[in-house]
Amino acid sequence: MKLLTSVFLIVTSGDLLYLYYTGVWYDVWWIEMIEVVCLYGFIALGLVSLWRWIKMAKIRVCIGFGKFTGKCENIAGTKWSPHWCERCNKLRLEHLSKRFQEIVSKFKQWAIK
Ligand SMILES: [Zn+2]
Repeated sequence: MKLLTSVFLIVTSGDLLYLYYTGVWYDVWWIEMIEVVCLYGFIALGLVSLWRWIKMAKIRVCIGFGKFTGKCENIAGTKWSPHWCERCNKLRLEHLSKRFQEIVSKFKQWAIK
């Protein structure tokens, strides 16, 4: 959505500026000046948010949960998985090995009987 908005801003502003310079619209000069300045501003805004979007697309955020509440905001990518951060991956593996130990101990109880 952010990508669409920034592309829309750049394209629309660019098109309106093109129309201005080819002489399609002329009215009161000071209103035009304000409009032209705003259009350049929109293009700059669009480029900045496009740049941010590209930067964010490269950096992956962890899919785990935060330390206390909500979503984890750490940058993802460990030796084990590209989707988890170091802290969440450790928690995840600890949880998994606990589950396996439970299964093993249940199995042992069952085998003894
Ligand atoms: Zn995390």
